[in-house]
Amino acid sequence: GVITVKSPRELDLMARAGRIVGATLALVASRTRAGLSTADLDAVAEEFIRAHEGATPSFKGLYGFPATLCTSINEEVVHGIPSKTRVLRDGDIVSVDVGVCVGGFHADSAITVPVGAIRPEAAALLRTTQEALDAGLRAVRAGAQVGDIGHAVQQVAEGAGYSVVRELVGHGIGSAFHEEPQVPNFGPPRKGARLVAGMTLAIEPMINRGRRDIRTLPDKWTVVTVDGSLSAHFEHTVVVTEDGARLLTERPAP
Ligand code: MG
Ligand code: MG
Repeated sequence: GVITVKSPRELDLMARAGRIVGATLALVASRTRAGLSTADLDAVAEEFIRAHEGATPSFKGLYGFPATLCTSINEEVVHGIPSKTRVLRDGDIVSVDVGVCVGGFHADSAITVPVGAIRPEAAALLRTTQEALDAGLRAVRAGAQVGDIGHAVQQVAEGAGYSVVRELVGHGIGSAFHEEPQVPNFGPPRKGARLVAGMTLAIEPMINRGRRDIRTLPDKWTVVTVDGSLSAHFEHTVVVTEDGARLLTERPAP
């Protein structure tokens, strides 16, 4: 496949989408508490996104997905469907993934949010998954290769004793939500496509406390760990520049 380099006009649209994505995640995180359902979080996000002129939720209808957010609790890795019957409990972790489209261009980001007081082992998983994403972001610059990103993520995650999900990967993003290249969260450095300034990537480690194996539930969406261990997911959309990754989905300070 062809990896597209975005024009300044296209990057501007993606930056606008990305600012709304970041603000949506900050809002959802600030609202998250025990007793709310994942459908409640979804409603907050959809209303907020649509309040911005020209902005639409990217996920609604994407491959037939029915909601604005993916909400994935505890052993759920990604692609959980918001539901009125999934009520958050104190001590849960909930991964919230969202995409926004502005002017035909997308941005994509995810965070895993603690619900109330979480156990130390859950907090450690969230911290390390964020650090793994940060390491992946630091590997991005023009002239680096896609494999450098995954290698950096894997070193941090496995160095802390966790495992990296293999079947689901990051991706190019732009006028299509999923573009070339695939961006795995594992593998050797100095392999894969060469990064060029103006490419846009969604980098998104999915890290498990236990084994790396996953399966999909009968709802055909929700991906869970086979061993039932906790899983965390953090994601940013970035532009490749000559001297690093420019974040498009930064979250405003709470
Ligand atoms: Mg995402
Ligand atoms: Mg993504």
